[in-house]
Amino acid sequence: MQEERTKQQSEVDDNGVLCIRPPRTAGNKEHLQRINYLMQLAVFHTAHNSKDTFQGLSREYASNMDLIQKKTKVALMPTVKRRVCKQCRRIQLPTKTMRSYIENKSKVGRLNPKADVVVYQCRCGGVKRFPVGKDRTYRTYTEIEGNVLDLEGTHGGD
Ligand SMILES: [Zn+2]
Repeated sequence: MQEERTKQQSEVDDNGVLCIRPPRTAGNKEHLQRINYLMQLAVFHTAHNSKDTFQGLSREYASNMDLIQKKTKVALMPTVKRRVCKQCRRIQLPTKTMRSYIENKSKVGRLNPKADVVVYQCRCGGVKRFPVGKDRTYRTYTEIEGNVLDLEGTHGGD
């Protein structure tokens, strides 16, 4: 009985996240679906069209996705944003359109692992830097278990 009562009240979990009931509907369902579809198309054309080294079609899809996101103010997940180059809108696929390496500009080099920076270098020359050495346990909001709703119920659910 008491357990039920505490479940219904909103509370803060260990990570400081306020636990509230999930929304019944998604506000921007059409925009989310469109962005999702464009992302899938862009990744597909980058991965399977090896003749086109310019990735024209794929970049157009990614560019469209970015425009829709800006116009509708839909928030993209960090995992999606990290897969698109900001300069040329190429989808970042390792060995195909980008290469990744660890850079350490500390005076003592790799002896100071806190200065490790993961660099994603796109084919166009644009780079994304992630200072992984600072906090190796860092996870984005969506990477923390339980923060993103499992709407399809593929993982069991409640
Ligand atoms: Zn690029």
